Amino acid sequence: MEKVDCLIVGQGIAGSFLSQQFLNQGYRIKVVASGIKSSSSWVAAGVINPLVLKRYTLSWRADEFLKAIPPFYGEMNARLSENYYHPEILYKLISSKDESAFWQHRFEKAKLERYLEKELMDLNEGYEITGLKDFKKGLVKNCAWFDLKGFLSHFNSYLQKNGMLIEEEFDYKALNKKSYKKLEFDHLVFCQGHGVKQNPFFKDLPFQWNKGELITIKAEKLRLKKMVKKKVFILPVGNHEYKVGATYSRDCKNNEISQDKLTLLKEFLDEIIDVPYTVVKQEAGIRPAVKDRRPLMGKDPDSGYFLFNGLGSRGCFMAPLLSKEMMRYILTNEPLHPEADLSRFRK
Ligand SMILES: Cc1cc2nc3c(=O)[nH]c(=O)nc-3n(C[C@H](O)[C@H](O)[C@H](O)COP(=O)(O)OP(=O)(O)OC[C@H]3O[C@@H](n4cnc5c(N)ncnc54)[C@H](O)[C@@H]3O)c2cc1C
Repeated sequence: MEKVDCLIVGQGIAGSFLSQQFLNQGYRIKVVASGIKSSSSWVAAGVINPLVLKRYTLSWRADEFLKAIPPFYGEMNARLSENYYHPEILYKLISSKDESAFWQHRFEKAKLERYLEKELMDLNEGYEITGLKDFKKGLVKNCAWFDLKGFLSHFNSYLQKNGMLIEEEFDYKALNKKSYKKLEFDHLVFCQGHGVKQNPFFKDLPFQWNKGELITIKAEKLRLKKMVKKKVFILPVGNHEYKVGATYSRDCKNNEISQDKLTLLKEFLDEIIDVPYTVVKQEAGIRPAVKDRRPLMGKDPDSGYFLFNGLGSRGCFMAPLLSKEMMRYILTNEPLHPEADLSRFRK
């Protein structure tokens, strides 16, 4: 029987980033992935942003997550000999005096100099933007764009080429303590996102799924080199194409695209740009979020199997550090952050 140190179920952000952590330390892994390319990670835009831009508050553990990002993505680039991580800035678009005053107020009150530039700028200051309505812009630092689709498909081929991928739907009936079909493992980690709904060991946990949709547009007359955000972000991805999103909805009956969210996204977009565009793609996915808006990580004490889930809307930002913490927990029992540990729901 073949033996691995860790069997990982799922190849979204959680499964891929955790795989990378184990590989970096020289452990033997196998990844079971269903081959369905419509999960949250496969549709996400890959924006990395430490702030909650509605209220200008720092997101949970933002400083720690930021610190872990460059080394993690650096190692990933080295493994794949390709760069999918692009440090960036983002401009928040400001349209009224009240909004400007709120920016200044938050900058001073929350001491956000590491994250925001105090003075707002005219739209064309720094570089020329064509095709937007009349706004001021505020610079948000320490953001990035991670080309998730590019990375996930490359990493999928990498796993396949190196004999580490089992491309199938995980079969719970074929699981027997420390073996799965013809494979023995020391540790089993479920990184299934929304797919955990079918998992007999963890499906009781208080997930609060959140469906998101985004569109890709083509706008020949829009000249925009940096990400901008108003009610939605506009992310330039090359070839005159831009990703625009995302929506948030608790209605998660399916992960199909909908006409009403398309209309909503176009409405928001029309508030920002004033040049013609065509929608070239619309995508939807279900974010694996939790009632208290924290990740869900830990161990089921009865089976000994692990869970890495609950990345919500900030997978690319949190997972570099969380995947490392998850690996340490699995290998050395180093405690997880108490707000992320699933034992908070299983006293
Ligand atoms: C529209 C939208 C936009 C988003 N934009 C961003 C963004 O810009 N930045 C950001 O950081 N985050 C963004 N997110 C959130 C981000 O997508 C999630 O945080 C992240 O994808 C969660 O990753 P995951 O690996 O936990 O889950 P998933 O992405 O759901 O991956 C789980 C994987 O497990 C597999 N799987 C499940 N069950 C089984 C099984 N039984 N057998 C085999 N395989 C299985 C699935 O096929 C899937 O590949 C966005 C989400 C949406 C919906």
